[in-house]
Amino acid sequence: MQQVMVFGATGSIGASTLDVIKRHPEQFRAHTLTANRSVDAMVQLCLEHEPEFAVMSDESAAEALRQGVDGRAPTTVLAGESAMIELAQSEAIDTVMAAIVGFAGLPATLAAAAAGKRLLLANKEALVGAGALFMRTVKESGALLLPVDSEHNAMFQCLPTDAKARPIMDRVEKILLTASGGPFRGRSRQSLQTVTPDEACAHPNWDMGRKISVDSATLVNKGLELAEACWLFDRKPEEIEVVVHPQSIVHSMIRYIDGSVLAQMGQPDMRTPIAYSLSWPNRIDAGVSPLDMVAVGRLDFEAPDLDAFPCLRLAYESIKVAGGMCVYSAANEIAVDAFLGERIRFTDIDRVIQATLESTTLLEPKDIATVIALDQSARQHAAEAVASMSSNGRT
Ligand code: NAD
Ligand code: MG
Repeated sequence: MQQVMVFGATGSIGASTLDVIKRHPEQFRAHTLTANRSVDAMVQLCLEHEPEFAVMSDESAAEALRQGVDGRAPTTVLAGESAMIELAQSEAIDTVMAAIVGFAGLPATLAAAAAGKRLLLANKEALVGAGALFMRTVKESGALLLPVDSEHNAMFQCLPTDAKARPIMDRVEKILLTASGGPFRGRSRQSLQTVTPDEACAHPNWDMGRKISVDSATLVNKGLELAEACWLFDRKPEEIEVVVHPQSIVHSMIRYIDGSVLAQMGQPDMRTPIAYSLSWPNRIDAGVSPLDMVAVGRLDFEAPDLDAFPCLRLAYESIKVAGGMCVYSAANEIAVDAFLGERIRFTDIDRVIQATLESTTLLEPKDIATVIALDQSARQHAAEAVASMSSNGRT
């Protein structure tokens, strides 16, 4: 029985994870669930999954959860990041699903890595912000790091995992990272000036949280995924090519030097990569309907439009500089928040990232204190950029 702790249980990945776990009660148990402040959603999850512990971000949310559960589930409710970290590192937990959104998930995710757990990584911002530190922690602790992001899970499925087959890694000619293109594929930059948060969050293929939905619309998500692939598979950015594939059926591909291209395909349903990361090297039912290729009919591929979506170009540039992606990701979080709050335009997001990259002094993010300082400094510069854009009457 795998005892699973789900960070971000009330989110989109959290819900899909709990759905897969529930299908296999003989193999997995939702031992501990965490969330920020969504008390009502967490009450329902506690009643349904009866976890041993639930952890909320602060004491007032924890108290509201205690009252909401009111003895109807055998769950002890705790509060704060230190409680999360302590539980993630406890012997009771085998597997951690890291599905908090944003850099805020770094301390807990890193703690699970340091404790040598089976770590299912959805929280890409934690890896992107602290890449070297994160990968070093995994290596030193012997944690088993399994990518949940659908593209990286696809790459993982198409790459050798057996240590004896590792030399084949040298025979990878290129990783082809697929992108749906988001809701605004084919649009000009000019026409994107007036798009609304709801339009940006209406993804054609995937149902996701609002932050990652905006990231998909700007292609920041692909920029973060580029960095994620570099860290996970020890690649340089020029060894990874972004290919727009609007149907989201091919989740990524590996091109080998002999001309073979291996692809992993499936429905755009996160339960597939989640089930694979839970069960690897086995496979389990994920509740996903079989892929009907005749119904799919055709698979299209095109190059990304870097003029309409400059955030992807910015990622290729930032990734080459130590600390660049930490700043990029932090600035993006501030910009997305401002866009969702209707304080800046959609087309200001890349301007905030660019301005922050120019104004922040980059540091090599080698330890947690430096990573947090760099993130903080980037957030401050990004907030100044947002303030200057909104006070210019641009919104
Ligand atoms: P979401 O917004 O739906 O859920 C986020 C979860 O994190 C919620 O449970 C929330 O309570 C919790 N949370 C938010 N801020 C927190 C904080 N400061 N401290 C503690 N908990 C906090 O997000 P999501 O779409 O499920 O995405 C989660 C992560 O997975 C993101 O990093 C995203 O990039 C990644 N991801 C998501 C998808 C997807 O299909 N949704 C696919 C690939 C990767
Ligand atoms: Mg993805």
